Amino acid sequence: MPRTSKNTAKTAGGRAGVRSRNLFDALDAKPFRLSRSKIELFLECPRCFYLDRTLGIDRPDGPPFTLNSAVDALLKKEFDIHRKNGEPHPLMTQYTLPLVPFDHPELDTWRENFKGVQYLHASTNLLICGAVDDIWVDDSGKLFVVDYKATSSGKEISEATLRGSYRRQMEMYQWLLRRNGFTVSDTGYFVYVNADRDRAAFDGKLEFSAQIISYAGSDDWVEQAISDAHACLCRSNAPGTGAECDWCRYREAARKVNV
Ligand code: SF4
Repeated sequence: MPRTSKNTAKTAGGRAGVRSRNLFDALDAKPFRLSRSKIELFLECPRCFYLDRTLGIDRPDGPPFTLNSAVDALLKKEFDIHRKNGEPHPLMTQYTLPLVPFDHPELDTWRENFKGVQYLHASTNLLICGAVDDIWVDDSGKLFVVDYKATSSGKEISEATLRGSYRRQMEMYQWLLRRNGFTVSDTGYFVYVNADRDRAAFDGKLEFSAQIISYAGSDDWVEQAISDAHACLCRSNAPGTGAECDWCRYREAARKVNV
């Protein structure tokens, strides 16, 4: 029986609202690009991951995090001033970290969405990628992955309150940099900025306090997650859900009333 691409059949006719690009095809010899966030989607719900990466059906986007993106961009600019001077940012000094922002010709690429740090995972032919916020380095050349986070919370933010997805994000970047030949510490840092919501008035500005949260990661899970995600992509039918979520509850409710 001739081997046919499942996506040729799936996308034939150009269904409205269905993406026809960046779909996994097991018969394509070209590496398939898989971002860190899509691996996170797989871990959250294999069904949604399958619908997205093999059928071109994206989960509805939430509202864009434009304020967080603005904070990220400004933090990058601020740390870049100190990177250029080869000196620690004052926040790093406050936390007595014997590190400086890492300067590397590829850093801008590593930070860019849709590029990022890349590694071809040979056994699955998946090109794994992830865009880092920052990297710091010690005297010996060991790298420390850094992620910027912005929030507005009256609660204490600490290592114990970090979301699982944030931890995995850090660990995936550590894994990617290691696969690119760098020595990377298990310790990574979250630069957390927290907007003060107790001011008397807005007055056209937000005031943030900044803290560094140290996190000891382990990338032991990454290889297995990539293999499992690849096996999911190669399926001929969609797997079950891995999560209870509002979107599927909505679909289920609509199906029950035949709309
Ligand atoms: S449960 Fe949610 S995440 Fe999973 S397939 Fe349904 S919509 Fe997607």
